[in-house]
Amino acid sequence: MSPKPQISFEYFPPKTEAGREKLLRETTPALNELGPEFFSCTYGAGGSTRANTFGIVSSIQEEGIAVAPHLSFGGDDAETIGELVDRYVALGINRLVALRGDMPSGIGGAAQLVYANELVAFVRERSGDHFTIAVAAYPEIHPQAGSYESDVRFLKAKFDAGADMAITQYFYNIEAYFYFLDQCAAAGIDKPIFAGVMPITNYENLARFSKNCGAELPRWICQRLEGYAGDRDSIRKFGVEVVTQLCQTLLDNGCPGIHFYTMNQVEPTRSIYQNLGIA
Ligand code: FAD
Repeated sequence: MSPKPQISFEYFPPKTEAGREKLLRETTPALNELGPEFFSCTYGAGGSTRANTFGIVSSIQEEGIAVAPHLSFGGDDAETIGELVDRYVALGINRLVALRGDMPSGIGGAAQLVYANELVAFVRERSGDHFTIAVAAYPEIHPQAGSYESDVRFLKAKFDAGADMAITQYFYNIEAYFYFLDQCAAAGIDKPIFAGVMPITNYENLARFSKNCGAELPRWICQRLEGYAGDRDSIRKFGVEVVTQLCQTLLDNGCPGIHFYTMNQVEPTRSIYQNLGIA
């Protein structure tokens, strides 16, 4: 029998105290009941969310729940990032999601982004095997990639530098994921590549976000969502149905697990999870 798929939940750090309270007191206990392997919390490259990400991560860790901060150099120097890594070690955090990140506009015009493989090497040098390190992967290929082959090669470089697993950008084209797994295996990658899954709740936001990150929204999904003309209940119902099918097909065909981009909400992630054969 194949092992139970690994499930994880991603947050972004809320900007308000009320958002923070809700995330910690309501959302996290509800999602934790589903037995995730870990939660993760994003990080604004350039350090824009440094304190907030650290605060959320330490509060979740204090509850005895496994949590992985996302981390990137942004425009910061090695000392700043090294100290942050040391603070996570001292807190007992033992997972990280290591990224190059994107520089928010207006921050650090002259700053250099540091590729994720270099960050992974830096963390390994600083803290040895302490962390389980996840990196990002792109079944539909990173928007700035020189070519499909080079993007797979740079993913391999992240594993060669010491990453243990990858989490994909979200996608709705299942074939893109399985083709990508084959290409990664052919390139010598033998570590798990978890599927990042974005629940569907709002067409305009999803369309804008997908354009920026290079995730393709299939025409039939766009047609359906447009047809609901902002009817939120119908969009949610359709979203749960489609994303449940996506997850079930992934798991039925050997995907090792799913990382949900929860957008800090219990629903519809919980409903999708409960619809799956693993719940
Ligand atoms: P890299 O792996 O460094 O790749 C970036 C680009 O450069 C790619 O086109 C690649 O082909 C190329 N490349 C890679 N290595 C090299 C090299 N050594 N030499 C030359 N070219 C190279 N963004 C945030 O700001 N905060 C977050 O918390 C965050 N979390 C994310 C979590 C997941 C699971 C995913 C999938 C994405 C996340 N992102 C986040 C978005 C991510 O930061 C962006 O997609 C960013 O543009 C690339 O980051 P990366 O780590 O994949 O970069």
